[in-house]
Amino acid sequence: MLPFLRADLAKLKAYQPHPPIPEPYDQLDTNESPIDLPTEIKASLAAHYQQIIAANRYPDGGHKSLKRTIAEYVCESAADIAAHQITTENISVGNGSDELIRSLLIATAIGNGSILVASPTFSMYGILAQTLGIPVVDVGRGEDFQINLEQAQAAVEEFPIRAVFMVHPNSPTANPLTSAEIDWLRQLPDDVLVVIDEAYFEFSGHTLVADSLSRSNWVVLRTFSKAFRLAAHRVGYAVAQAELINALEKVRLPYNLPSFSQAAALAALSHRTELLAAVETTRQERENLTAWLAQQPMITQWPSAANFLYCRLSNKGLSQLGMTQAEGLHHIFTQLRQQGTLIRYTGGGLRISLGTAAENQRTQAHLQSIIG
Ligand SMILES: *Cc1c(COP(=O)(O)O)cnc(C)c1O
Repeated sequence: MLPFLRADLAKLKAYQPHPPIPEPYDQLDTNESPIDLPTEIKASLAAHYQQIIAANRYPDGGHKSLKRTIAEYVCESAADIAAHQITTENISVGNGSDELIRSLLIATAIGNGSILVASPTFSMYGILAQTLGIPVVDVGRGEDFQINLEQAQAAVEEFPIRAVFMVHPNSPTANPLTSAEIDWLRQLPDDVLVVIDEAYFEFSGHTLVADSLSRSNWVVLRTFSKAFRLAAHRVGYAVAQAELINALEKVRLPYNLPSFSQAAALAALSHRTELLAAVETTRQERENLTAWLAQQPMITQWPSAANFLYCRLSNKGLSQLGMTQAEGLHHIFTQLRQQGTLIRYTGGGLRISLGTAAENQRTQAHLQSIIG
């Protein structure tokens, strides 16, 4: 190891987005939208690049018009928020919500305390915290992936927790926060930041954005990478009171969002009715695949409020395969991959993103051939 590097970096591995895979395959491992932007929107973005964007100039580093449009969308998306209640002062935008997660970690916990997570959950909180030398306290989850609140409360009392990271609905397990969990989060002291990651909000329809306006220690994160079909462009945003947003603005890089990404996010927002109409199709696909999985005696699945499903082998499945849970899931995962369906094996279960109707039918057929 290079002698000038931090010793703790030696233990970490660089993030591997995809294992090597045979083409062609159905990419159902990253919860993206299965469909690209409509051709007309791409064409108008291409024209925008040719005619409006000066490649030699830095992007708009204040993100003014993007923030204004995001504020409008967030107001519209929350029934308990009045129009214009959210302004540009309540919004910060990042190079994906990953950047905002890192900014929140920098602003709260570096050299100042730990963070709390409940696994299985989004791996990026722990990964980014480790790269910054921030200790991670993981309180785990129970059988139906509810958080053990006694353990979580004990952790907050024992450790200097500066931020709690929750996904709503959670990834990879697809369950939304329960009202008991939300109540626990609401009673946390104001020296603990509550981060609600609503990456899958458009699929669940449930938001806690009102809390991020009424509480000084709450922030909601959202992304354009899922329902808005812009994963390629890396745009995420945070909603919070102005003081916290100001802290995020201090720690971010000055020109964190390329001009083309800002234009893409603005285009997606101005076509939001059209783009978000596909969410209904995904919900329907979710019902179909859920119904089919429910008939598979070898599988245990959990209800999903997102654009993916989570499952494990049932006891019957384990005895039929004569394998342990880990062996059995690894078997299904590799068999599916060989047949051209790429899913995630994570958190002790299989996470299957919903794709197009054709992709989901192939998922079903491939699963049928393995466990049917
Ligand atoms: C996909 C996802 C994100 C989005 O990250 P980006 O950096 O905006 O692409 C954030 N949080 C969770 C839980 C996710 O699953």
